[in-house]
Amino acid sequence: MNIDYPLWMEIDLQSLHNNFIRIQQHLTVPDASRIIGVVKADAYGHGLESVLQLQKWGMNRFGVATAQEGEALRQIGIKGTIYLLGGFIDQEIPGIFKNHLTPALSSREEWDCLNSAVQTNQQELDFHIKIDTGMGRMGFLPEELDESFFDQISHHPYLRLKGVMTHFASSENNPAYTQKQFEIFQNCLERLSHSKQILFDNLEKHCCNSAGFLFFPYFHLDLVRVGIALFGVSPIHDFSPARSLGLSPVMRIRSRVKHLKTLPSGCYIGYGGTYITQGQTRLAVIPIGYAQGLLRRLSNRMEVLIKGQRAKCLGVISMDQMMVDVTNIPNVKRGDLVTILGPDGADEIRAEEMAAWAETIPHEILCSFSRIKNRILV
Ligand SMILES: *Cc1c(COP(=O)(O)O)cnc(C)c1O
Repeated sequence: MNIDYPLWMEIDLQSLHNNFIRIQQHLTVPDASRIIGVVKADAYGHGLESVLQLQKWGMNRFGVATAQEGEALRQIGIKGTIYLLGGFIDQEIPGIFKNHLTPALSSREEWDCLNSAVQTNQQELDFHIKIDTGMGRMGFLPEELDESFFDQISHHPYLRLKGVMTHFASSENNPAYTQKQFEIFQNCLERLSHSKQILFDNLEKHCCNSAGFLFFPYFHLDLVRVGIALFGVSPIHDFSPARSLGLSPVMRIRSRVKHLKTLPSGCYIGYGGTYITQGQTRLAVIPIGYAQGLLRRLSNRMEVLIKGQRAKCLGVISMDQMMVDVTNIPNVKRGDLVTILGPDGADEIRAEEMAAWAETIPHEILCSFSRIKNRILV
């Protein structure tokens, strides 16, 4: 491959397609239209081209965080349902109607805002309601959803209630809490169903993010909202849940060796001299830094792959450059390929591993690389 960039992202479309199929197969009712592909934050850093591919393969529901993200999807030709998963501010309302987004409502204020907007534009809009069962973020508290309010929002000439959702706070590591949230959700649903049985049966009920989807198959309900799993990555540091389902990472970050030098023992490396060479050291400089999304927290911890072998980061990561130790990798030359994320030879740097190095979650690792705009579909 002839690539002119010093740093680029490869999007492995075959993996993306395969992940989409595997996720369908893992559903309690295998069906592509039961999947909401969560593609907020520029598709977790993968870019919107990958969303278009998902649509071509049959995905017809997408989740975003803002009306602006929804508009960007409409502009590239996304036709299916676009859920605004986290509510909205008043200024986003024109964008919601213009782009036919499906917001998840979290409060009576949001309802009132939509309601007054339709008085003027007389435009139909689908919406879901979000229940806060223990996330402590967006959503109605269960007790706020009384029968009269439910009656009001389920009989409107323009605004059509289509679904009810909740969001798990700890489905990746706290099954007891997740179970409790699920029960609160079920109780709330049951209460509402008594008031409006027929309407209620047609509502789409959903609660699973990737961790819920992977670890609680009996919580899949009508729809699942998968983000990180779609991109082949586990929501935790252990990559085996994703791998055992046959999911594989979509994002690969690559660069080239820009400079090489041999330093004697006792030399300071990088700003602040946080690393001092312990012996004669062959050092390579790579053109990626925190401005390109490499978290500074990875300094002196992360590793990259050169010729399929691991090279450890030396010193702190600079704005646009980093240094690695290639003493034990023979014949490294200027211009050699460097893999920052993804496979090279028999080895692979995974987002889950990087997240462990940086003491964060894999989601942040993927999103941090959204700054790399040189994307190549492979
Ligand atoms: C981001 C998000 C998801 C997807 O989470 P993953 O862990 O990436 O699968 C699902 N639901 C809601 C409400 C979200 O905000």
